Amino acid sequence: MTVDTPAATHPAAPALALLLDVDGPVASPVTRDVKPEIIADLVKLASAGIPVIFNTGRSDAFIREQVMAPMIAAGMPAGTVVHAICEKGAVWFSYTSVGAGPIHVDHELAVPKAYGDDIRRMVAEDYATHMFFDETKRAMVSVEQQLDVTSEDYLAEQKLFDADALELLARHGLAAALVDRHEPGSDDAADYRLDPTIISTDIESIRLGKDLGASRAVELLAAQGITPKAWRTVGDSRTDYAMADWLHYNDHVVQHIDVRPADGVPTKPYDILTAADLGFGEETIHDDAGGAFLRSWREALVG
Ligand SMILES: [Mg+2]
Repeated sequence: MTVDTPAATHPAAPALALLLDVDGPVASPVTRDVKPEIIADLVKLASAGIPVIFNTGRSDAFIREQVMAPMIAAGMPAGTVVHAICEKGAVWFSYTSVGAGPIHVDHELAVPKAYGDDIRRMVAEDYATHMFFDETKRAMVSVEQQLDVTSEDYLAEQKLFDADALELLARHGLAAALVDRHEPGSDDAADYRLDPTIISTDIESIRLGKDLGASRAVELLAAQGITPKAWRTVGDSRTDYAMADWLHYNDHVVQHIDVRPADGVPTKPYDILTAADLGFGEETIHDDAGGAFLRSWREALVG
């Protein structure tokens, strides 16, 4: 895509580019919304020419509501462009102070509609007290925890839902795998996968992933003539490491920030940071940790 951007506000080689998972590091997994101080730091970084790119499993509608609208309301200057890669790379768009540009969808990466319709019906009939069908997804099928259900109750019910959803894939003649911890390229016998997270189950093409999102992020910046000197990727799940993996193996300088290291920090050929590296205790996780890193980059790069 082409974005008409004044060179003055977007240096061709910024010191950093930020590739951010949203649920966890930016949006609270409890309330699902974004703290005003995080929005303010995102606006300051983006308007100083630090590329801010979201790489999320969420829909474009979620990003427009929870991130784009608050950033515009906080006073994003004209000429600043923010990219959002949604649905793990299947959908993407860019926005400026006047709102969202065109929404791009890779329809080849979509789950067959008949399957999605059956999942919607199954949720309504059997799971509506614990979860809801995300009507805003364009390529994935996502079923999310109701906010009034405890995490414990949800996670127990999610196991039943996942088994039913997997069986339904087979009935639709779709080859699928239940992926607990997806490693890119590890499950290529299947065409679709179930990816349960702590607040949802995503059913998606196996070609989707945070690695696909990372490759799109590099392309979107290249289209603007921007080659960052280094990248920071931020996530709260094992699958988020695929962003840094992809960047590292494609010769970009990257550090990954894990805002929920309780799952264990894997050994990787690049640096991995947690809130402890900023001097915080292990209780600083999720958007508290994500916010602390955004603040540290804002202080270092913008003031
Ligand atoms: Mg997340």
